[in-house]
Amino acid sequence: KKSSLSEVKVAVIGAPGVGKTALSVRFLTRRYIGEYDHQSETRYKHEVLIDSEPILFEVLDTCPKNEDDLPSSEVLNWADGLLLVYSVIDRQTFAYVKKAGLILANCDIPVYLLANKCDMVHLRQVSYDEGSILARNFEWGFSEVAAAEQVAPVAAAFHDLCKAVLLSRRK
Ligand code: GDP
Repeated sequence: KKSSLSEVKVAVIGAPGVGKTALSVRFLTRRYIGEYDHQSETRYKHEVLIDSEPILFEVLDTCPKNEDDLPSSEVLNWADGLLLVYSVIDRQTFAYVKKAGLILANCDIPVYLLANKCDMVHLRQVSYDEGSILARNFEWGFSEVAAAEQVAPVAAAFHDLCKAVLLSRRK
């Protein structure tokens, strides 16, 4: 297919409750609502300019049933890039991204690790360095954000991932 508009498919992955929907909605609408529907997987389309190039984002907000429900091969085959999310106030969700990392090590797909809820300073269970070291080991992008309070840093994570996808296509 030939088109001037690049399409980038991003799957948002992480344990239940880490803020996948909050982050997706922040990126797509700049808004934060606070409570989100958890019934099903949702797919959004959204056009943005990245380095003055128009990109059509498809964002798949996945919906794992529990802490053991790792991303399916269907999702991994569909996605051009993965946004892997954990919550800094829940160590179990960090274990989830570590487990996901092991299955992703075999796929050649750009990944960005995003630590969410860093506004909850007094409840922090996972340090910045732990996230940063995990990301470095797998050569993933990494940052800490708070979907509840930030717009630009959340968008920056999606943009970085998108750039990594475009770069991997040019190779
Ligand atoms: P999902 O299951 O991963 O899609 O998680 P949700 O997006 O539904 O978020 C789960 C809960 O965490 C909701 O009550 C959100 O309001 C809350 N939440 C999401 N992001 C943040 C954040 O950055 N800070 C705080 N304090 N709460 C957040």
